[in-house]
Order: sequence, then structure tokens, then C-alpha cells
Amino acid sequence: MASDNTTPADFRRRILGWYRRRKRDLPWRRTSDPYAIWISEIMLQQTTVGAVIPYYGLWLKSFPDIRSLAAAPLRKVLKAWQGLGYYARARNLHAAAKAFVKHHGGQIPEEYDALRSAPGFGPYTTAAILSLAYRQPYPVLEANVRRVMMRLLGLHGLADGRHDRIISARLEELIARKSPGDFNQAMMELGALVCRSRSPLCPGCPVQGFCAAFAKGEQEIIPRPTKISYRKIEAVVGIIEDGGRVLIQQRPDTGLLAGLWEFPGGKMRRGEGRIRALAREIREETGAEITAPRFFMTVDHSYTQYQVKLHAFRCTFKTGTRPSDGARLRWVRLRDLRKFPFPSGSAKIIRGLEETDRPQGGRP
Ligand code: SF4
Repeated sequence: MASDNTTPADFRRRILGWYRRRKRDLPWRRTSDPYAIWISEIMLQQTTVGAVIPYYGLWLKSFPDIRSLAAAPLRKVLKAWQGLGYYARARNLHAAAKAFVKHHGGQIPEEYDALRSAPGFGPYTTAAILSLAYRQPYPVLEANVRRVMMRLLGLHGLADGRHDRIISARLEELIARKSPGDFNQAMMELGALVCRSRSPLCPGCPVQGFCAAFAKGEQEIIPRPTKISYRKIEAVVGIIEDGGRVLIQQRPDTGLLAGLWEFPGGKMRRGEGRIRALAREIREETGAEITAPRFFMTVDHSYTQYQVKLHAFRCTFKTGTRPSDGARLRWVRLRDLRKFPFPSGSAKIIRGLEETDRPQGGRP
């Protein structure tokens, strides 16, 4: 850090004082229940605070404790997660809850190794739960903390984990032994509110006097920005109707969007027309033949490293090789679509269907 006449105790005093005065009043900061803290920590990974708040409340109503989560069917768990993205988080929550019931009497274990071996518990989550819920002095290292520490220490380059060894060693010295949870939250809160990736608010920073980047005027160039390159995909899907029901298909249990449901379809080939691609994909995916495809809507959606343009067509099931109601194919009524967990792109199509099929009329 920049200054020689400042100590870890000074640093702790400053950042903890700032945190206690300025922290946002968030629902998961009003509880000491390890389960509720765990849920919030998982939801907050890769999702913004504003997006998490409504999900957090609804989740705790649906699954108020570890046992209720462990006993719930996976489909209900994925449905409660729908819209938050990165569904592996929900599957890991479910698997970990089962493990805690089976091996730890329905409690989240307090020992590092036991917790670290549970599904979804990497170094960050383990440190976060042990410090926030059980007051153990494990520093957390996530994107906000990494950025703050790189600036405080004047470490140049990408915020990609190469500097983690140096940062972790420094955090071990700095962490407040009596209130490690508050210390970790303070570091993350500083990164979220003050030491932002762009335009950090250095004049209001409680640890400005410790900051090597600020001392050299380098806060804007540390860390070096990363370029995210998205892969563009164009796909077609069919809303295949037959006697008031539509055909949906469940994705495999592993891989991208595992276990979620979707309308049958897939990627268009280069130079292939949409209708031709639709018929081909549906035949390959389900064995069904369709007729009378009508364009319905196009949905743009981004997830992980993909930017997807999804063209949806309404079409009619053609008698012949009717797909069976096997485990991964279901005929469901339109109004029952909402009972199934869909990725966000498909959920937008379902909202479009609900709007279209809603009775028109009423007062002008
Ligand atoms: S002085 Fe600026 S760059 Fe340094 S830690 Fe504070 S907000 Fe971040």
C-alpha cells in the first residue's frame, strides 16, 4: 500500500467505520441465519443486488430452510431460480442442501474442509459463509475485492487471478479478527459503491491514504480492462401445437442450461433459411414433422459468452410420427407452460404467447 505510516489496524478502523455508516440496508444483512446468508451469497454471484432482492424474498418463502430445499423436486428449485441465470448455482444449492441433511443434521458445517467439499462451495463461497455466518477470519476474494486490492497495492495488469497470491497474503494480515464478516462485506461494498471499475469515487474513499494507485493517479488504469467477446448465434424454435397443447423439450442434465425446458429447435446453418432450419431441427430433435409455420417473434438474449437471436414460429403438429410423452418431451397446455423452468429467452416467448392469447376487448 502507499503509505508507510499506516498500519493494518488503521486500515481496519477506517474501512469498518465507513461500512457501518454507509452500508446499504439489504435484506440479507438483517439476518444471522446461515442458510439465508448462503442463499444470498449464491444469488449475488454474477447477479446484481437489484435483481436479487425479489428472488431472495420469494425463495425464502418457498424454501425457508435447508430441509425444505432438500425435500423439494429439482424442477421446483429451477423454476424458483428462473431468470437469475447460471442455473448450475440452483442445482448446486439443491445438491448441497441434500448433502447437509444427509451428513450434517440439516446444518451448514462450520469446518472449512467439510464445507469446501459440498457442491458449489469454492474458495469464495466457503470463506464468505464461514466469515459472515460463523465469524471465522477467512478473507473473501471476489471481483470487487480483487479490484480494490489491486489498486491499493498498485498491481498493474488484468484482474484475472494472477495477482491472487499477493492479494490473499495481504488480506490475511488486514482482516478484522473480531468482525471478519463485516470486514469482508466492507471490502465488497467499497468495490461496489466507491472503488467502481469505471470512475472510482476516490475523493470519498475511506482508505484513500492507503492507496498506491491513487498516489500515482493510476486508479483508472488498474486493473487493465478486459474485452468480453460474445459468440453470436442465430437459432429457430417451433411452438408446435396440437389440440390445445404445445410440445416442449427438456435439455440434458449436464452442460449449458442443464435440465431447463425449451421449445424444440436449434442453430441455423450458414445460408439456411429459417423455415428449412426449423423443420430440420424439429425433425432431428423430436422426430416430429410440422406444417403451417407462421413467424411469431424474435428474441435477443445474452447468456454466458453467447449472444443469441431466437426466431420463434408457431406451427402445427403433422400427424405421423407423434413424439411420445417421454421423459424429455412433454405436451402441455399453454397456460401450464409457466410451471416449467425455462431459460430467459424462452420465457420471453412465453410472455409473448400469453399476451397474444389474452382475450382482447374491454373499454377503449
Ligand atoms: S482511493 Fe480510489 S482507487 Fe484507491 S481504493 Fe479508494 S476508490 Fe479505489
